[in-house]
Parts: sequence; structure tokens; C-alpha cells
Amino acid sequence: MKIVTVVGARPQFIKAAVVSHVLRKNHTEILVHTGQHFDYNMSEQFFKELDIPDPDYNLGISGGTHAQMTGRMMIAIEEVLMKEQPDWLLVYGDTNSTLAAALAAAKLHIPVCHVEAGTRTHCKTNPEEINRICTDHVSSLLLASTKSGYDEMANEGLQDKGLLVGDPMYDAFIEYSNKLNVSDIKLTLLQGGNVSVPEEFYYLTCHREENTNDDKDLLEIFNACEMLDVLTIYPVHPRNKSRAVKLLEENGFTKLILCEPVGYLESACLVKNAKKIVTDSGGLQREAFYAGKKCVTILNFVCWPETMINNRNELSRPVAKEIVEKLSHDQIVDENYQPFGDGHSANKIVEAIESAEKERESSK
Ligand code: UDP
Repeated sequence: MKIVTVVGARPQFIKAAVVSHVLRKNHTEILVHTGQHFDYNMSEQFFKELDIPDPDYNLGISGGTHAQMTGRMMIAIEEVLMKEQPDWLLVYGDTNSTLAAALAAAKLHIPVCHVEAGTRTHCKTNPEEINRICTDHVSSLLLASTKSGYDEMANEGLQDKGLLVGDPMYDAFIEYSNKLNVSDIKLTLLQGGNVSVPEEFYYLTCHREENTNDDKDLLEIFNACEMLDVLTIYPVHPRNKSRAVKLLEENGFTKLILCEPVGYLESACLVKNAKKIVTDSGGLQREAFYAGKKCVTILNFVCWPETMINNRNELSRPVAKEIVEKLSHDQIVDENYQPFGDGHSANKIVEAIESAEKERESSK
């Protein structure tokens, strides 16, 4: 089979890493990088650390409004698809790159396999929700990471095309999270210079449109960190950089380590060694769960219902007192509860595409 995979953002590089390694054993993969994430430490570092094959096409498209970015990506991806004529298109998650690729392929009658299908926040103001819904509805093979995702498909009449395969992020976490020790990590401070990772720390990531549109929410999150007992490490997403530095300078916070984004090996190691996690990232919520770390999620919707059990992951508004209070709740971890699969979802994803292709061939 010839498969075109389209990726563009950090979490997609991580999922593609584990799936590509399996896929390329018996099939030809053409890798397209849209360019949505382009800084070295948001893109190339992931390709190097996770040994992801170099992209065959680099489209160099990022920025602009949602429609501008998605439209430009559709035009460029359509050209690649017309040239390559693949048997399948493979996409991951919920970014504009996912949606653009799925729409371009569907219009060319190229079957689309969507990994992380069925995930729903039921919040239409969340831009990724639109991407998830539209991508699922134009795809031919819907691979859910969790049972809740698979169940959601039934609500939209999609389950006939669906399968539960587990979460490739979990595969990646098992494979890569023990590669480094905290003592190997040097954090590059936004204000200049490097620091080592302190013995005890909280790990914060925050980049969603919902929390980064004005100073108020980020200031509340920083105020929460200032109220905690030990330092917080925050690798700042490029979207937030100037605001984060400005707030630090204006308020003289002393308990925050604001640093450049770290690579995946570093991030997974920080998750494993953090005291607790504060995030608005779908990926980090799950990684906190895999590592048995208490998580507070600064969003007003649930991304991964499986994690919201026994106080393991709690939603909070961006309000300092509420974040700190929720972080103080004790969680109960049941080691036998593993709703994200068995760590072999990459194999299941490739097998599912192979079976779907056989079925397609036999029905021709
Ligand atoms: N991550 C990383 N470096 C960082 C911050 C996060 O490698 O500086 C990883 C994190 O461990 C997780 C993924 O990036 O695996 C999450 O990506 P992101 O938060 O960009 O997207 P989302 O999960 O919200 O879709």
C-alpha cells in the first residue's frame, strides 16, 4: 500500500513516530509536514529525538486565521495527493492540518483513516472540536483511542466505520519516557541562560486559544503557581511567549521557571518526575494519567473523560484559588485501570488500515 500521512503539529509528530515505524515495515509512506508548527523545538527536535523519517514534503504553511491556514493547506495537500495517488490518507488528532488533509483527500475520493477519531468535547467554541467533527464525517476508517471515543461515534451514526485501537500517545509514552533522567535536562530560560530541573516541581503547559487570548487568564494561572509550595516549570508555547515574559516582568514572580519548549523526551521525563501537573493540553492530561500524576486542567470542557476519575484529573477555571484548591485534592490511582490500551495501538492501527484496504479491494 502507498499511504500519505499528513502531520503539522507537535502531538501529531509523537503519534506518527510510533505508527510510522510499524507502517514502514511493509508499506510505502509519504510523509507531508504542513508547517503548522515550525520552530526547531516544536518540530525538528521531535523528528530527531523520535527518529521520525524526514518529511517528503514540507509545505511551510502556518499562521493566519483558521480559514486562511486551512485553505492554504488544502490547496497544497491536494497537489501532493494528485501527484502521489496514494491508496490511503492517514491523519491524527484535531488540528487544522488534520482537517485540511481530510477534506482534500475526500474530494479526490482517497479514503481517509483518522486516528483519535470520535473524541468530542461537545464545545463548539473549541476550534479543535470543529476539526474533529468534520474530519470524522469525511473519513472512511475511524480509529478511536478510547471507549468513550468509540461510543461517541454511535451518536453521530459513525460507528460502522469505527474501531477501538487504543492510544498511540500511550505507546509513545511507554517507549520514550524512560530515555532521560531529570539530571540530563537543561531548561533554556526565556530571560536567557540555562537552569537544571529542581528536585521538586510542578509541570505547567498552557497554549490553548481559550487561555491565551488576553492577560487575565494567564495571570491567574501564574498567581496560582506563586501560591504553591515548590517551583513550577512552564515551557512556554510560542503563542504565549511575549505575554508570559511581560507578565513575569510586571509581577516579579519568583516561583515560575519560564523556559523554551522542551523536546518530547524531556517533556515525558518532566511528567514522570513532577509533583503534579497543570495544563490545558489534551496530550499532557493523558500523560499525567499514564504516569499516575494528579492533574488540574484549565478548560471548561472534558477532553478525555476516562481521566476524570477519583480526582485524578479535575477541570478548573483560570482562577488562582480554584486551581490551587483542586491541586490539593488527593487522587486515588488504580493501577489496573488502563483505558488507553495496551501500548500496542500502532500495530492495531496498521492492521486496521490493511483490513480496510482488503475490504475495499474486494468490493471493487
Ligand atoms: N510537549 C513537549 N514539549 C513541551 C510541552 C509539551 O514535548 O514543551 C509534549 C507533551 O508531552 C505532549 C504534547 O507535547 O506529548 C502535547 O502537545 P500540545 O500540548 O502542543 O497539544 P495538545 O495535546 O493540546 O493537542
